[in-house]
Amino acid sequence: MKAVVLEERGEAGLRVGAFDDPRPRAGEAVMKVKAGAINRIDLYMRDSGKGITHELPMVLGVDGAGEIVEAPKESALKSGDPVILYPMAYCGRCPACIRGDHPNCIRFDICGETRHGTFAEYIAMPEKCYVPMPDGLDWQAAAALPVAYLTAWRMMFGKDPLRPFETVLIMGVGGGVSAACLQMAKMIGATAIVTSSTGEKLKRARQLGADHGINYRDDPVARQVMELTAGRGVDMVIDNVGEASWKESLRSVRAGGRIVTCGATTGGHPSADIQRLFARQIAIYGSTLGSMDEFRQLLDVAARGAIAPVIDQSFAMDDIASGFGRMERSEQRGKLVVDITA
Ligand SMILES: [Zn+2]
Repeated sequence: MKAVVLEERGEAGLRVGAFDDPRPRAGEAVMKVKAGAINRIDLYMRDSGKGITHELPMVLGVDGAGEIVEAPKESALKSGDPVILYPMAYCGRCPACIRGDHPNCIRFDICGETRHGTFAEYIAMPEKCYVPMPDGLDWQAAAALPVAYLTAWRMMFGKDPLRPFETVLIMGVGGGVSAACLQMAKMIGATAIVTSSTGEKLKRARQLGADHGINYRDDPVARQVMELTAGRGVDMVIDNVGEASWKESLRSVRAGGRIVTCGATTGGHPSADIQRLFARQIAIYGSTLGSMDEFRQLLDVAARGAIAPVIDQSFAMDDIASGFGRMERSEQRGKLVVDITA
């Protein structure tokens, strides 16, 4: 089959070409991939992969949607079924899995990270990872959902859900997860404030429903947030920028509010400001992907048309380097998808 294969670290280690077809193990089904989507983690795998157990060469790609071509005998899946892939092969037996908290599975195995990924004509994953694709979604929209939208869903509605009467501050609205968080905030009628360094990105965010746009180059974010909220601060901050925005996140959240993070693009070691944390009783928690339950909730909402993924551009596998470059330069305005059929 044709695949995007990482042979060694770095841009030069990426090869698009022939790779062995997947050999499904017991309980696994094979999907013919129609579309994938690019995520920051793909760049991390390309350049470092540190802390993630895997061997090279490996097929990259965490997001994918397509058609079942081979399923176990007793499976409810049938050849030709359109499906979306839940990218995490969870064990189903550990304490986290028993709680239904799949992202904390102790034996998790994520495609494109610890096993072969979706940027290929075929992929084999446990049959429980394939969820029926809702009507009305095309392949590219479906492939854009799992990582960015599921991550956003758990951040917004997981541990301490955003409520309709609350205000959320979303740091750096250009990225896929941030755009998804904005859409979800507006879906429930909450007030959304977004930040960016460019007027053009803020304008696009307003088109997606943002109530206020803050250009962080103009004035410190927290100062602008306090003006917009009559000195109260926001109820929730979504921050996957990290070091560069952390101080402003801590200063923008109201006493008793929460900061949710799913990434640290600009670095992972900002000042903790512990005095502010306890004095103002601020909660900080991390989030990554989402549980199977959360995935089904997200797909239900997508099936109702309440959330439609924002697609920036589509790339053929042969042109994957251009897609990676666009993400690296943070030029994307929504999801970068990969057309596996091209
Ligand atoms: Zn488990």
